[in-house]
Amino acid sequence: MIHSFDAIILGGGAAGLLCAIEAGKRGRRVAVLEHADRLGNKILISGGGRCNFTNLHCQPENFFSSHPHFAKSALARYTPADFIALVEKHRIPYHEKTLGQLFCDRSARDILGMLETECHDANVTIFLNTKIRQVGRTAEFIAHTADAEFHAPALVVATGGLSIPKIGATSCGYDLARQFNIAIRETRPALVPLLLNPDDRSRYCDLAGVSNEVIASCDAQHFREKMLITHRGLSGPAILQLSSYWKNSQPIRIDLAPGREIAAFRDPNTPRNPTALRSELRKSLPHRLADRWLDLHPPDSWTNHALADFEKQLHAWTITPEGTEGYEKAEVTAGGIDTDELSAKSMEARKVPGLFFIGEVVDVTGHLGGFNFQWAWSSGAAAGRAL
Ligand SMILES: Cc1cc2nc3c(=O)[nH]c(=O)nc-3n(C[C@H](O)[C@H](O)[C@H](O)COP(=O)(O)OP(=O)(O)OC[C@H]3O[C@@H](n4cnc5c(N)ncnc54)[C@H](O)[C@@H]3O)c2cc1C
Repeated sequence: MIHSFDAIILGGGAAGLLCAIEAGKRGRRVAVLEHADRLGNKILISGGGRCNFTNLHCQPENFFSSHPHFAKSALARYTPADFIALVEKHRIPYHEKTLGQLFCDRSARDILGMLETECHDANVTIFLNTKIRQVGRTAEFIAHTADAEFHAPALVVATGGLSIPKIGATSCGYDLARQFNIAIRETRPALVPLLLNPDDRSRYCDLAGVSNEVIASCDAQHFREKMLITHRGLSGPAILQLSSYWKNSQPIRIDLAPGREIAAFRDPNTPRNPTALRSELRKSLPHRLADRWLDLHPPDSWTNHALADFEKQLHAWTITPEGTEGYEKAEVTAGGIDTDELSAKSMEARKVPGLFFIGEVVDVTGHLGGFNFQWAWSSGAAAGRAL
C-alpha cells in the first residue's frame, strides 16, 4: 500500500507532534509514524508523571551543544510563552514548582491529550505500531514499513535520543543521519545518576535515600541543588545537572554544606570534642550523613589548623565516579546530529534538502527543569513552519 503526504514525521514524541501541529495548521498533509503502540511515551513518564513542560526562565545558556549559538534562533521564535498559551487554551491547570519550572497540576496526560487534540484539529494522520525498515530517496523520500510505503517530499526525523530504550528509544535517527552522510557528535547519557567507585560505594551507599543541598562541580560548571545518595552512587538535581558535563575518570567536587561554617568554634566556651562537632555538623547535614562523615573524616586534632582542614574537606569532597547509570537511567542523550549540518532557522539538513532533524536527536541538550521539552517544542515548531 502506498501513502502520499506533504511531509512524513518519524517519531510521535514531543518534537514530532509539535512539528506536525505547526505544519498541519498551515494546510500541509502530514503523517506521523510512531513505532510504539501509543504517542508520547516519554511525555507520560516525564516530571514524575506531571511533565515539567517548560521553564519560565529559558535562556540559551540553559542548553549545551558543540555550537552554543545554534539553538538561539528556534528558541526565540517559539518561546515558553507560546507553549504556555497552548496549555492555557486547553485550560490545563499548572503551577510553578521551583526556579521557573512549570508542571501540570494533574498529570502529564493533559499535555499529551492537548497535543493529540491539536493534531486532530490540524488534520494530522497518525500511524501507530509503524516501524520503519528503510528510508529511500528518489524525487521524494520513501519510508518503507513491512506492508506499506510512505512517500513525501519532506522527511522529519524526530526519533529522540538513546535514553530509556525500554520505552522505545532507538538509534534510528542517528542511522538515518549516517545513511545521508550527515555528521554526528559523539553521544553520551546526560542528566544521569553517577556511580561511585567500589570503595566509596561501601562507605556511603547504605545511606541510600539521604539527601541534602550541595554545590556539585566539575570543570567550570557548578550546580547548587539537592544531592541524593542512591544504592549505587549519587543522584538528585545537582548531580544530574553535573553529569551532563562530567567526563569519564574526571574527579568531581562536592561542597556538602554550602555557605556554612561548621568547625569554627568561635565561642571559647564551646568544648572542642567529637560530640560538639557532631552536634554542629548535624545542624547542616542530615544526621546519618553527618555521623558518617565524622566517622570517616575525623579531624586530626583539635587545633585551629586541623579544624580548618576538616572544614576545607567538608566543602570540597572530591571523588572520582566510576561511571554513570547509562542510557537505561539517563533523562536525555547529549551529542547527536551535528548542528553544523542543519539550518538554525528550519532544522533542515544543508546537504539534503527536504530532510529535517528535530528534538533530542540533535546535538542540543538542556539543563534539568523543563528545558529539554522547550527544545523539543521550539525545534519542532521551526521545522513545522518550514515544511
Ligand atoms: C524519565 C524522564 C523524565 C523526563 N522528564 C522531563 C521533564 O519533566 N521536562 C523536560 O523538559 N524533559 C524531560 N525529559 C526529557 C524529555 O522527555 C525529552 O527531552 C523529550 O521527550 C525529547 O523529545 P523528542 O520528541 O525529541 O523525543 P521523544 O520524546 O523520545 O520521542 C521520540 C519518539 O520517536 C519514537 N521512535 C523512536 N524510534 C523510532 C522509529 N525507528 N520509528 C518510529 N518511531 C520511533 C519513540 O517511540 C518516541 O515516541 C525526561 C526524560 C525522561 C527519560
